[in-house]
Amino acid sequence: MPADRLPTGIASVDRLLGGGLETDAVTELYGEGGSGKTLFCLDVAARTARASRWVLYVDTEGVSLERLRAIAGPDLDRLLGHLLVSAPHDLAEQGRAVATACALTRGGRRDVGLVVLDSATNFYRLALSGPDEDDAREALVLQVADLVATARRRGVAVLLTNQVWRNPKDGALEPLGGSFLNHAAKTILRFDRRTGPVRRVVLVKHRARPEGTAEFRITAGGLESVGPG
Ligand code: ATP
Ligand code: MG
Repeated sequence: MPADRLPTGIASVDRLLGGGLETDAVTELYGEGGSGKTLFCLDVAARTARASRWVLYVDTEGVSLERLRAIAGPDLDRLLGHLLVSAPHDLAEQGRAVATACALTRGGRRDVGLVVLDSATNFYRLALSGPDEDDAREALVLQVADLVATARRRGVAVLLTNQVWRNPKDGALEPLGGSFLNHAAKTILRFDRRTGPVRRVVLVKHRARPEGTAEFRITAGGLESVGPG
């Protein structure tokens, strides 16, 4: 595994990504509700914290402690000792939470392995088509720019999740946040529902890897690779 990757621990996805998440860039996950974005973030967070590296987790949806407990198993205490969760209730609070996560990462006093923003566009979406849309877009752009700069400066993996809208022209599911987010994220993964607990991950964009797909299965104890190896 190259030193500039943070393994997700899901073999199929790590293969797709050439070893794991890039550690000097933002990785964006987008997909419809229930496609597994949050479970994926929790899984990578748990793996990173278990390895005694800090995870700074900005959660706009209400992280499932029950879920974390199931993933962590007997390691829960150790894991919680390296996990800092903030739960903003609006876009302004989200901005402060992101700024704090970036400052802590840059400060260098903790060995931060991963920063998560799940979901980046939960509150932004609420402002769309309203009088505050421009302000909301600007706020989101600043937050993501801060995450991009922090990832590059400190060599830290940043995961952000994004919701989707259906393009009426062709019915395709597209990520929110327009072209800005698509440029800011150096890796983009689309999550698709498959039959039952299986989800497909499509590598839409990467600086160093060809496009491709991987599959994982949602189980009670976490996400499992599907496929060879
Ligand atoms: P949203 O955009 O709404 O936040 P998401 O992409 O973050 O959605 P998750 O919350 O990660 O989606 O995934 C939830 C999905 O995982 C649901 O479809 C749920 O049925 C499934 N799921 C949760 N626990 C299990 C389990 N133990 N076994 C199988 N499937 C499960
Ligand atoms: Mg989610």
